[in-house]
Amino acid sequence: MKKAGVKQLSAKQAVAKQLAAKPLKSVTKQQKWRDWRWQLQNRITRIEEVERALDITFDATQKTALTETIEKFPLSITPYYLSLVDSKHYEDDPVFMQAFPRTAELNVSRADIEDPLHEDADSPVEGITHRYPDRVLFHVSNVCAMYCRHCTRKRKVGDTDYNPQRSDYEAAFDYIENHPEVRDVLLSGGDPFLLENETIAYLLERLSRIKHVEVIRIGTRTPVVLPFRITDQLVNVLKKHKNLWINTHFNHPQEITPEAVAALDKLSEAGIPLGNQSVLLAGINDCPVLMKQLVQKLTRHRVRPYYLYQCDLSEGLEHFRTDVGAGIEIMESLRGHTSGFAVPTFVIDAPGGGGKIPVMPNYLISWSAHKVILRNYEGVITTYEMPQDYKRHQCDSFCQTNAKAHKEHRVDPIGVDRLLRDTNDTITLMPMEVVSE
Ligand SMILES: *Cc1c(COP(=O)(O)O)cnc(C)c1O
Ligand code: SF4
Repeated sequence: MKKAGVKQLSAKQAVAKQLAAKPLKSVTKQQKWRDWRWQLQNRITRIEEVERALDITFDATQKTALTETIEKFPLSITPYYLSLVDSKHYEDDPVFMQAFPRTAELNVSRADIEDPLHEDADSPVEGITHRYPDRVLFHVSNVCAMYCRHCTRKRKVGDTDYNPQRSDYEAAFDYIENHPEVRDVLLSGGDPFLLENETIAYLLERLSRIKHVEVIRIGTRTPVVLPFRITDQLVNVLKKHKNLWINTHFNHPQEITPEAVAALDKLSEAGIPLGNQSVLLAGINDCPVLMKQLVQKLTRHRVRPYYLYQCDLSEGLEHFRTDVGAGIEIMESLRGHTSGFAVPTFVIDAPGGGGKIPVMPNYLISWSAHKVILRNYEGVITTYEMPQDYKRHQCDSFCQTNAKAHKEHRVDPIGVDRLLRDTNDTITLMPMEVVSE
């Protein structure tokens, strides 16, 4: 009896102890884990930390080479993102491969270019890249929660010397103010969501005061690598702006976790349209089956696949680059095979600042004076007969009523559009280099 009594008591004590201590402890642990600042403070930045976290070891030579690599391009992984790695198969793990360095990053290939997209050359003032007629890229931050090994701005991000102050944005605001043709401003970086809420609020409010800015976009990878950054407070800042669009950067279905979905839901529920830009990466997502799953999962969570990028020619990215054909094959596997709005546009961002060029399978096979020959996704070859006496829309009245706007800033047509326009008599476009000789 006595013995049993003692036993009972100790069991109770144990449960009480557990009730008192364990749940509390795990609640604080969970709270910490879900605190984006805690995630940032505890970022993994050294090879040894990765070894410890994943319970793996690299030999001494590997380690020296890896350390040399991260001296050039810093290592930074949020504990959350690292927790998505399957440590048993870490070498081919898509999360690991995007976050962990490979010594191949130090190889500069024949085709590599330091600033392939001419973001610096096309920069009229600090922070602004102005390449297209009606929109600009505005670099507002130079840090990211996780440094993607495939980042096209690698040579810039993680440069700790550069931490923009509010005053650093003034030249960019002046530029936008003085360019009434800019109707769309893309906040980019680095990652704009690594700025404080107050700074984000300031940027959005400041831009909203510029009348001709009709659309503001933010590009952020936080829903993927730091979903806890999407807090109610941040959403309250964002949802005041009814012209705001957000683009994120999921590359693999493994990244669409319950935490990521919760972040996306918060943004959607605040009425913010969401898009996704993926980069085609060798050995990570260069597969039609996987890509279909990714775009379907994204649309399931109200994210519209926007672009699929061919990997850029930035230095040290050759091991990530695929054949262009791999992307075309993916596009072939999507169009017609799944919801049209799940199909992104596959683009090559032209080296030398040429901008994004869409690339896709050919659907227009041939044509005559009155007929086009098309093929569909199943390989059916079909014809479309043109109308007998088609006359092009005469746009005089529309043009006249809008003449003022056109004169002000919606300018003359440029590019191939100019050659097609009946109202313009240009018959040839000459490459600048030839003209200036
Ligand atoms: C990608 C990009 C844009 C935006 O292009 P969209 O096709 O409108 O999304 C604008 N400016 C620069 C410099 C860019 O690289
Ligand atoms: S989040 Fe974007 S800018 Fe930052 S490292 Fe990744 S690709 Fe580069």
